[in-house]
Amino acid sequence: MTTETTASPVTAEEIEAGRRAYELDRAHVFHSWSAQDKISPMTVLKAEGSWVWDGEGNRLLDFSSQLVNTNIGHQHPKVVAAIREQAGRLCTIAPQHANDARSEAARLIASLTPGDLDHVFFTNGGADAVEHAIRMARLHTGRYKVLSAYRSYHGGTHLAVNVTGDPRRVANDYGDAGTVHFHAPFPYRSQFHSSSPEEESRRALEHLETTIQLEGAANIAALILESVPGTAGIMVPPPGYLEGVRELTRKYGIVFIADEVMAGFGRTGKWFAIEHWDVVPDLLTFAKGVNSGYVPLGGVAIGNAVFDTFRERAYPGGLTYSGHPLACAAAVATISAMAGEQMVEHAARLGEEVIGPRLREIAARHRSVGEVRGLGCFWAVELVKNRETREPLAAYGGSSPEMDEVIAACKAGGLLPFANFNRIHVAPPLNTPDAEVLRGLEILDAALDVADKHAN
Ligand code: PLP
Repeated sequence: MTTETTASPVTAEEIEAGRRAYELDRAHVFHSWSAQDKISPMTVLKAEGSWVWDGEGNRLLDFSSQLVNTNIGHQHPKVVAAIREQAGRLCTIAPQHANDARSEAARLIASLTPGDLDHVFFTNGGADAVEHAIRMARLHTGRYKVLSAYRSYHGGTHLAVNVTGDPRRVANDYGDAGTVHFHAPFPYRSQFHSSSPEEESRRALEHLETTIQLEGAANIAALILESVPGTAGIMVPPPGYLEGVRELTRKYGIVFIADEVMAGFGRTGKWFAIEHWDVVPDLLTFAKGVNSGYVPLGGVAIGNAVFDTFRERAYPGGLTYSGHPLACAAAVATISAMAGEQMVEHAARLGEEVIGPRLREIAARHRSVGEVRGLGCFWAVELVKNRETREPLAAYGGSSPEMDEVIAACKAGGLLPFANFNRIHVAPPLNTPDAEVLRGLEILDAALDVADKHAN
C-alpha cells in the first residue's frame, strides 16, 4: 500500500494563481458555518494521496481527510480515470431512467451493507440522505417524532440540523421539526455517573427507554444514531449499547436509522461501523466515503420492511441528480479500488497496531490529553486543562486561543488536523502508509507540548 506522492513541487505560477484564488474567495465566496470577516481560509493549490499543498506551497499531511471524506486519499488514479471515462460517455441522465453506473453502484453498495439493506435511494450528500430516511420512516410508521442523540451531527438542512445534537442546531432550531434528543453513552463525560462502560451502556439504555415511554412510543417514527458519532467526538459505543437500541426500537415499532455518513465505507476498519456490533438497522445513510467525495453523492440503504411500504404506494420524494452518473461511476471505482487494495483491512490494522498504540503512548506523556479513543482510522484526542477535573481546553461549542495554538503548531510541523472544540481527530485516508501515519503522529506529539503549557 503506498500513496507516496509523485507530484511535482509547486511552481511560482501556481502560488500566484493561489493568491488570486484567495482574493476572489474573500471577495465573493460565502463560507459555511462562519462569520465571514473572521475567517482566513487556507488555499489548497493541489492534493495527492494523503498530502495537500497550501497557498505558500507547503506540503501538509492530511489527517482530516478534508471533512473525513477522502477515504482513498486525493486523486486516486483509478477513480479519476473512471470519472473521465463516464464524462466522455454520459455526463448526466434523469433519475427516472436506468443507467449502468447507477445500477452497478447500487449493486455494490447493497452487497456491502449488512443484512437485508438491499435497495438504495441516491441523494446528493449526507444531509438529504438523513432527510429522506426520516421521511421514509414517517410514511412507513404513520408517526411523526424523531429521536436522536445529543452530541451528534446529521447535516445542515432544516430537518437534519434539527435532528443534530451539537450547537449548530441551536441557532437553527424553531422547535418545529418533531425531534427529541436523548443522551447516548459517553463514558469519559458520563451523564449517568457510570463507573464502567458496561454500566454506561445499561444506564443509557434505561434512559432511552424512559424517553421513549415519556414521549409516547406511538408517536415516534424513527430513532437516528451515528453508529460511531464522528464530529461530536468519536465516542465508540460501549458493549451492548447498539444491540440494546436495536431491541428497543423493535419493541416499540420505531424505525432504526444508522447514520454512517462519516463512519461508513471503511473509516472504522469495517465497511460499515455498525458491523462491529452485529446489528442490522432498518435504514442506513451514507455519503462521503462512498466515492471519497470526488463527486457529491449520498444515499439511503433500505431494508425489506420499509421497502415493502413503497412497493404499491409511491414514495413522495426525489432529486434531479439522484444517482448522478459521474458520482456513481466514481463510487463504483472507489469501492473497487478499496476492495482491490484492501484499504478496509489496512485501516483496521492501522487502528490496532499503529494509531491506537501510538496515541496511548502520546496520552501517557502529555498531561493535556484527557483521553484517546477510536477505531480504525477514526480517533479523537480529547484535550483538557486538568486531567482530574477534565475541564476541556476549549469550552463545548467553541474554540479557544489554546486550541488555536495547538492547531497552528500542527500546521507549522506539516500536519493538517481535524479539530473540533477541545478535540483533535486523527482521521487520515484509509490507504495512508504506516510511515506517513507515524510521521503525522510524531508532529501531533510535538504539537501537544504546546497544549501541555496550558494544562496543570
Ligand atoms: N451525517 C453525519 C454523521 C455527518 O458526519 C455528516 C457530515 O459531516 C452529515 C450527516 C451531513 O453530510 P453532508 O455534509 O454531506 O450533507
